[in-house]
Amino acid sequence: MGTSQEHIVMLPFMAQGHLIPFLALAKHIHQRTGFTITIANTPLNINYLHSTISKDPSTPSLSQSKFRLVSLPFNSSDHGLPPDTENTDALSLHQIITFCQASLALEAPVRQLVSDIAEKEGRPPLCIVSDVVFGWANEVANSVGTVNVCFSTGGAYGTAAYVSLWQNLPHRLTEAAEFHLPGFTESCRFHRSQLHPFLRAADGTDAWSRFFQPQLGLSLRSFGWLCNTVEEIEPLGLDILRKYLKLPVWTIGPLLPQSKLNSNVSHQRTGRELGISPEECLEWLNFHEEHSVLYISFGSQNTIYATQMMELAKGLEDSGTAFIWVVRPPIGFDLKGEFRAEWLPEGFEERVSRSRQGLVVHKWAPQLEILSHKSTGVFLSHCGWNSVLESLSQGVPMIGWPLGAEQAYNSKMLVEGMGVCVELSRGVQSSIMKEEVKKVIETVMDKKGRGEEMKKKAVEIKELIKAAVREEEGHKGSSLQAMDDFIATLLSQREGLSFG
Ligand code: UDP
Repeated sequence: MGTSQEHIVMLPFMAQGHLIPFLALAKHIHQRTGFTITIANTPLNINYLHSTISKDPSTPSLSQSKFRLVSLPFNSSDHGLPPDTENTDALSLHQIITFCQASLALEAPVRQLVSDIAEKEGRPPLCIVSDVVFGWANEVANSVGTVNVCFSTGGAYGTAAYVSLWQNLPHRLTEAAEFHLPGFTESCRFHRSQLHPFLRAADGTDAWSRFFQPQLGLSLRSFGWLCNTVEEIEPLGLDILRKYLKLPVWTIGPLLPQSKLNSNVSHQRTGRELGISPEECLEWLNFHEEHSVLYISFGSQNTIYATQMMELAKGLEDSGTAFIWVVRPPIGFDLKGEFRAEWLPEGFEERVSRSRQGLVVHKWAPQLEILSHKSTGVFLSHCGWNSVLESLSQGVPMIGWPLGAEQAYNSKMLVEGMGVCVELSRGVQSSIMKEEVKKVIETVMDKKGRGEEMKKKAVEIKELIKAAVREEEGHKGSSLQAMDDFIATLLSQREGLSFG
């Protein structure tokens, strides 16, 4: 049987920031190898992937039957969640842990799926590629005689910090505000404020620890890890991650559209209804000077408190900086509900719109198009890893306001390691003042001094990212080489199993 007959099963966690890079990885592997890819997930996420694929001309045709989407049975009501809850994007924090626990119910149908593939094709799939929090996929892989490869949708530094924090809970061993994290050098200190309240409170017996510790522990037994990053931009993070995992780590990022962006790419890529048409957004950006616009977004599932929103708005307005801000109802309100004018200063939206200082976008913006526009100068972000990569691959420096997951460690690395970010605030419960907002914006937007320095570094990183995915005259960039090495390693271990 030729290698083009190989089959890989992919298991993303049910969150936007995971589904998008998993789909991109699936396409990348399929296009580079011709292997059959099956992405398995809950029914609503499969519907979502179907609709995304149908809008994106660059996705392999599903009718070829070599690119498959499979629905796994899942009923959120069986797990104490509201009906049809299949994605983290509209969940409150206390529901997220219930949702994580509910995801364990996918193990049985995945086992069935993989066994069926093995029976039908006469051998197990080449591998399973599972999300970091689906450690159970290792047991499924072992039971059918294949291997599991863990795909970290985060960067190397952030992933290493996240895994080590959950496994070791080092902040519980000290009263001090700062502490050492196993796997990191002694001189590298982490701060309690970088921990989400539920991680800060975790002691190994709480619901979060009881989910994360075993799942991450199992993922550490994978055949290897794939990481959505670039070798040359994260040398330190990768060194830490590789030593911590003691496993091969293939750096195959960034998983972003490589072709010239057309005005529909965000919609095609994320499948989400946009709160503004890309054309209108680009027309607004065209009106502004080069590098003069601040783009603000907290990703697909986060928002901030109404009081924070108010100070951010006032600081923005006072700074006079042009901005595009993706707003969502604040914490404590229905994220899918209507946005109320009272959450922003009186007359804010109308005033900034009239003066053309600002564009307030509701719910979802064409982020890639905005970041790749020449008028965009800086990105105020929650430092979700997809946003980080999207920003850096366009040479756009950042203002960080990490909120959850591994975002605070991404921000730490962007500030201390790369020098492309200033942190404005940290955590969901932080208090921010408009004066500080104005000051940070002015520092980073400044075309001289620190702002200029950050821009220069961001552009250098952009060039490294471009080189990593370039292939010309027999030379392969590091991310393409890593993808080929990954596939070659899988194929040779398969041979080892057959003939060993
Ligand atoms: N995104 C977007 N428009 C928005 C908000 C987010 O296109 O208004 C996309 C963004 O480009 C990124 C993803 O959603 O690809 C968010 O992923 P990230 O890892 O940054 O954050 P998460 O949502 O996982 O917290």
